[in-house]
Amino acid sequence: MRACVLALVLALHAACLAQEPGEPLCGDCHTTGKIPHPQKPAVLEQEQGVEYCSFWMDSDPEALALDWVVCPNCLTPSVQQKARLEFDAEFARRKAWLEERRAKVDKVTRTESVHIQTKHFLIAWDIPKIKVGRKILKAHEAAHLYMQRAEGLFAYILDLHGITEAQTLGTRFEIYMFESERAARTIAPIMTDLPLQGDPKVQIVGPKISRMVWWDDPAKIIDDEHRHQMCVHCLSHHIHHDICLGQYTFWLFKSYGWMYEGLAFYLEHRMFGPPKTTCSQEAGGFGNYRDKSWEALVKKDVIDGTYPNFQDVISKAADALTDQDRRFAWSYVDYLMWFDPHKMPQLITAMTGEQLPTRDALRKAYDMSVGQFVDGWLEFVNTEYSTRPSKGPIVRQPRGTKKGE
Ligand SMILES: [Zn+2]
Ligand SMILES: [Zn+2]
Ligand SMILES: [Zn+2]
Repeated sequence: MRACVLALVLALHAACLAQEPGEPLCGDCHTTGKIPHPQKPAVLEQEQGVEYCSFWMDSDPEALALDWVVCPNCLTPSVQQKARLEFDAEFARRKAWLEERRAKVDKVTRTESVHIQTKHFLIAWDIPKIKVGRKILKAHEAAHLYMQRAEGLFAYILDLHGITEAQTLGTRFEIYMFESERAARTIAPIMTDLPLQGDPKVQIVGPKISRMVWWDDPAKIIDDEHRHQMCVHCLSHHIHHDICLGQYTFWLFKSYGWMYEGLAFYLEHRMFGPPKTTCSQEAGGFGNYRDKSWEALVKKDVIDGTYPNFQDVISKAADALTDQDRRFAWSYVDYLMWFDPHKMPQLITAMTGEQLPTRDALRKAYDMSVGQFVDGWLEFVNTEYSTRPSKGPIVRQPRGTKKGE
């Protein structure tokens, strides 16, 4: 069957390209009307997986980064004509994208960003250079690095939960990164309906529209790892909101704050170590808890019996969580991800789609009552957490995979 379809496609393709009766064949293009428009291997490597890149298009005005052009001295006019129509349409599509980006972003901010689009993300980047390790990356390279990180995170989150792209809503997440405070402040309310205030970033968390505007405030962003970690936290909100049946903007944020923040802190812990991020919509800051070992703090509270009431924490919106609540929100998610990460998408769906209360959502996805959850979580903290402060990523062995179990 597959072979038949392939044969049919090839036959149709050949029929489209075939010359008119009496026309000569063309050796230059093998009678396709198209000749290769080679790109340098280094460029192709950098642009892998990219649908559009303004920098690349600007450096290739002849074809706007397309890998073919029309056969210039074609001996087969009808074939050449078809190729020209195709080229013109593709060229126009690219030009329109570029013009739209410039009108919506560069004209508004009066800056010139690098714009890149991939399957899941759209980035506008106007930070002229960043230091990554010992290397200085200019805007174009830096934009690609952050694009790769964003796409990598998307794949990582899906993999972590054992789901495929078909179980996401397919929103394209937009990221706007500026060195200029003025530019970020100008575009923030246009893109997110919210002002940028007191925090390097502001977001509208989808689905349908999911955007982050970022001011690379030198007083707040310590280094690239810090920048990266904060971006992972924020993009976690966007990506998790797009899983399964999510359909309300800011829904987890408003109604299941512990889940919204817990998932983002889980990713920070898993990829970097103790969290460094608060969101602009979250109340307060981190007090003295930034960079401290959350695992040790949670364990200490559990031992001392000074931990918050589960029902109390889960009833709050993200912006009502206290510093202590946030650590416990992370720990609840840490427990559930350890218990069974593949049940997490069902839990998120029960919240964002069916809007079940946490109690019923837990029962549905994890088959646990609140009492069972709390007992199981306490045991998890007692056996898995250490009171000794630790730095660096925390990647736990999933439940039941330890020796002797
Ligand atoms: Zn590029
Ligand atoms: Zn030709
Ligand atoms: Zn957050």
